[in-house]
Amino acid sequence: HAKDNGRGRYEVFDDSMHQKVQNALSLEADIREAIGWQEFIPYFQPIIKLDNQKLKGFEALARWQSTKRGFVYPNDFIPLAEETDLIKEIDIQIIEKSCQQLKHWHDELGCDDLYVSCNLFSKQFFSTSLPQDIEKVLKRTGLAPHHLRVELTERALLENAEIVLTNMQALKNMGVKILLDDFGTGYSSLGYLHRFPIDVLKIDRSFISNVDEHNNNRAIIRTIVDLANNLQMSTVGEGIESLADAELLQQMDCVYGQGYYFAKPMSSQDTKDYIIQKLYYSKNV
Ligand code: C2E
Ligand code: MG
Ligand code: MG
Ligand code: MG
Repeated sequence: HAKDNGRGRYEVFDDSMHQKVQNALSLEADIREAIGWQEFIPYFQPIIKLDNQKLKGFEALARWQSTKRGFVYPNDFIPLAEETDLIKEIDIQIIEKSCQQLKHWHDELGCDDLYVSCNLFSKQFFSTSLPQDIEKVLKRTGLAPHHLRVELTERALLENAEIVLTNMQALKNMGVKILLDDFGTGYSSLGYLHRFPIDVLKIDRSFISNVDEHNNNRAIIRTIVDLANNLQMSTVGEGIESLADAELLQQMDCVYGQGYYFAKPMSSQDTKDYIIQKLYYSKNV
């Protein structure tokens, strides 16, 4: 009996492994196809100045409008896209569409001080063509470089520091600002943070959600804000879900915020309505 059970379990395991490989292969094929079909689009989440509630810009967050799979969130395609290097194409498509869309809003709505902040897979910073790739996108879309920001995670700072630094400096020289995303989540690169020309630290949402109930988180946020200030960097708090979160962050001198409390990531159409509402009809201007 024991033997039978063992064999049964083994076969179940084997089937599920087989299934996983099949799923990954078909997801990879679908992502490849979707890149050709331009199915990856940016959603936009507002970034707000905490002391006066002013809209400063947006983070662009990739969504996959798949003919086959429906509406797909990043967690369900970014990991495999990273493993297969398909992320490079996706990132560039998202940057291009974001710049194009923002430029369009600048011209159409007269809101030409808003910026867009795009996520880049950290390994893109290991590629010598990154600055030219981004310069080409800016030329094609007509967006001024200082309206584009790029977000990368601490992971990129751990390897190939030389090329990462060269790329960052090239982007900075163009006028593109550089943000360190999910800051504080574990790679402890504190010691060499000052070597990189980073403009903004984005404080990871794990420290911020329900910060009013967690004193440890409060101390961590305070430390990150102080560190940023000492290094002449600014701060954005992510994952602000309540008025209490927003107020606490402001008290701790965090300058900008982003989160469901202000708005969820929105489609282009909804973002346009949001900009009009925020800039022309809101009391919080
Ligand atoms: P991220 O860059 O740290 O983006 C913030 C994530 O937090 C987004 O998830 C956003 O929707 C979510 N978020 C914002 N405010 C709140 C809040 O108040 N509460 C909660 N619970 N969540 C909030 P999303 O859109 O699912 O993206 C997940 C991650 O996928 C991003 O994290 C980023 O690392 C990656 N990603 C998204 N778009 C791109 C892209 O175009 N390229 C690359 N390389 N990565 C991307
Ligand atoms: Mg980000
Ligand atoms: Mg983040
Ligand atoms: Mg994240």
